[in-house]
Amino acid sequence: MPLGQLPETLTGFAKPKLEKAFEEALYRSGLMAFSSRRFSGLGIALMFHEIQDDVEGELYTGCPQSQLARILAEVKKSGREIVTIEEGLQRLKDPANSKPFALLTFDDAYRDNLSNALPVLEDAAAPMTLFVPTGMITRQIDTWWLGLRDLLRVNQELHFPPMDRLFRCTDLLEKSAALRQITAWIGTDQSRAEQLGSFLSALGIDGPALVDRYAMDRETLQAFAAHPLVTIGAHTDTHRILSALDDETVLTEFVSNKAFLEELTGVEVSYLAYPYGTEGACGLREADMAARAGFKGAFTTRPGHLFPEHLSSPFLLPRIDVGYFPQRQSALASRLTGFQRARLTRWREPVATLT
Ligand SMILES: [Zn+2]
Repeated sequence: MPLGQLPETLTGFAKPKLEKAFEEALYRSGLMAFSSRRFSGLGIALMFHEIQDDVEGELYTGCPQSQLARILAEVKKSGREIVTIEEGLQRLKDPANSKPFALLTFDDAYRDNLSNALPVLEDAAAPMTLFVPTGMITRQIDTWWLGLRDLLRVNQELHFPPMDRLFRCTDLLEKSAALRQITAWIGTDQSRAEQLGSFLSALGIDGPALVDRYAMDRETLQAFAAHPLVTIGAHTDTHRILSALDDETVLTEFVSNKAFLEELTGVEVSYLAYPYGTEGACGLREADMAARAGFKGAFTTRPGHLFPEHLSSPFLLPRIDVGYFPQRQSALASRLTGFQRARLTRWREPVATLT
């Protein structure tokens, strides 16, 4: 997901005006990097979802190809080399002799990663990891975020009884606001995600058809995985909020997804991204399960840079969402410099989520 996809991709909208102004002022003054230099790690892991042809038509749930190209250029300009996860973790073992690096990660296996992301990555000679839920490929998944987007796109208003709300959605801003509010309401509550899924089904939203339209199929994924710049990573079978599931189910989600992807691609799958990835969605229990499932490392969506300290606990690695649109230059700089985490922790905790 977008969370998966949605919640992370929309976080850029939610910041209060005062904080935005502060961020903008620091950026323009040239003090942003200086003010957060303790928060700038040897590595960063960047997160994307869809790389869309029509970002407005998709209600601002991804970013256009031009933005991806701009981000890669900014990353390189900042002095970071774009490397594989394997190489990045090696560099963390020997920081004194290693160049700063960036990891590129894409979640959920959208078709546009092949048509729109890969050409940009080829131009930049930039490797990437694609985190794939089994259900996206088999079409056995509840992609409520795609259904909700589809519904809001064509309706002028939406009555959503579980929230006791009537959303006006006559234009793009109202539609994206409704999407954001319903996504925020789900938060990390799996039962609410299921309520929304049932609501969408009852309205005739065809979930499997949407997955067919937006997500890679077996053949596409196999071809994508064979590309020299691509590594395949795990993202569970069903893309549910893991904190809501019992121990055995969580372990099965990891083991089964890993086996599925290894069988499909013929390559060992060593890294995992937790669906949603927030503190409410995954934590120490999931980290322990990821180690037991045989992964070498796992990514959250807790914001922050990568430091050598993360090697002592590589199953709750931070990751930064940069794949949303529109995106201010200062917002991107805030993520690339470490200012984002400095601000969120009030300049207290440079190293995210070791526990
Ligand atoms: Zn996801």
